[in-house]
Amino acid sequence: MDIKEKIYFDNAASTPILEEVMYEMIPYMRIAYGNPSSTHSFGREAKSAIEISRKNIARILNCKPAEIIFTSGGTESNNLAIHSAVSALDIKTIISAKTEHKAILKTIEFYSDTLNILYVDINSKGEVDLSHLENLLKENPKSLLTLMHANNEISTILPIEKVNDLVAKYDVYFHTDAVQTFCHYKIDLSDLKNIQFLSASAHKFHGPKGIGFLFIRKGTKAISMIKGGAQERQLRAGTENVSAIAGMNKAIEIAYNELEERTKYISSLKNILTEKLFSAFPELKINGAEGEQSLYTILNISFPPHDNREMLPFSLDLKGIAVSEGSACSSGSTQFSHVLKAIGSRDDWPGIRLSLSHLNTIEEVEQLIDALKEIFEK
Ligand code: PLP
Repeated sequence: MDIKEKIYFDNAASTPILEEVMYEMIPYMRIAYGNPSSTHSFGREAKSAIEISRKNIARILNCKPAEIIFTSGGTESNNLAIHSAVSALDIKTIISAKTEHKAILKTIEFYSDTLNILYVDINSKGEVDLSHLENLLKENPKSLLTLMHANNEISTILPIEKVNDLVAKYDVYFHTDAVQTFCHYKIDLSDLKNIQFLSASAHKFHGPKGIGFLFIRKGTKAISMIKGGAQERQLRAGTENVSAIAGMNKAIEIAYNELEERTKYISSLKNILTEKLFSAFPELKINGAEGEQSLYTILNISFPPHDNREMLPFSLDLKGIAVSEGSACSSGSTQFSHVLKAIGSRDDWPGIRLSLSHLNTIEEVEQLIDALKEIFEK
């Protein structure tokens, strides 16, 4: 089967770049290809594309352009936030959750010999226990709290306004990994005043791979992990990825123009998908939160134990349907997902993560259900 005819339900891992985004990028590779640090017109054109993008992002997030630092994506942004908090803010403790992305968990583990690392309790839906969180914040001044805005595997959304209000009462810096929510939900950083750092990544909203940004609130000290030139307010040395920045800006512009429409369409598609799955497989279990507490883009499900369990994503792939076994970063390994483990899901129930975009259709949902029926009827 030609890849163009295949069905893609793995949009939380990465999304197809939109044609308009691709066309926006080309001039910065072919015409205005100067180094943005050069003072001639080729450089100035490139620099101007970067600054226009920064301004647009700041307008959308309701923050200042100088608070946006371009990075290579979510992983680097998360690293930059954590390493900055440790080296520049003199924190003593990092508070996080076992359900975070590996880009957080591995980075905080790096400091396990020198700092106090604490994990907030979560329930079986992946929801943070807010009273436990408050106790941790109270007992551990000078800490960094890093909690994701929404979980990339099980779709559970953090009540970010409540956490924002909670951290206001304590001596704590707050970082949120918004990789799965930025451009899918509106985020207003002038309301969420107690967020010091926020990470985003373009390939999760139909922009290019290898580009993202970290919001660093004015007055919050940070350090560069990459030493060299003075780019990005000396916080990220190296020639900027101009075409990718311009592409990300275009993807953001389109996402925001279509935000309501996409939200409505994808939410209804997720509802149809859920209903059809349950009517075909009544014993099915949903991993993570449901309804408003859950991302409208992700559905993580487990089926009762079955002989074909190891093979589920592989069997679907053979039928031309791409899904994920959990987080893309851990797929390929046979290990049970750290997120599913943290919420106590059973590892003998074969699970898949289905993640949707506005480009998916009801026909594709129907083909998925038919394919699953064939696999489980074998
Ligand atoms: N954080 C979350 C929640 C993610 O879903 C991902 C990607 O899977 C990342 C971080 C890493 O982002 P990137 O692929 O841009 O490094």
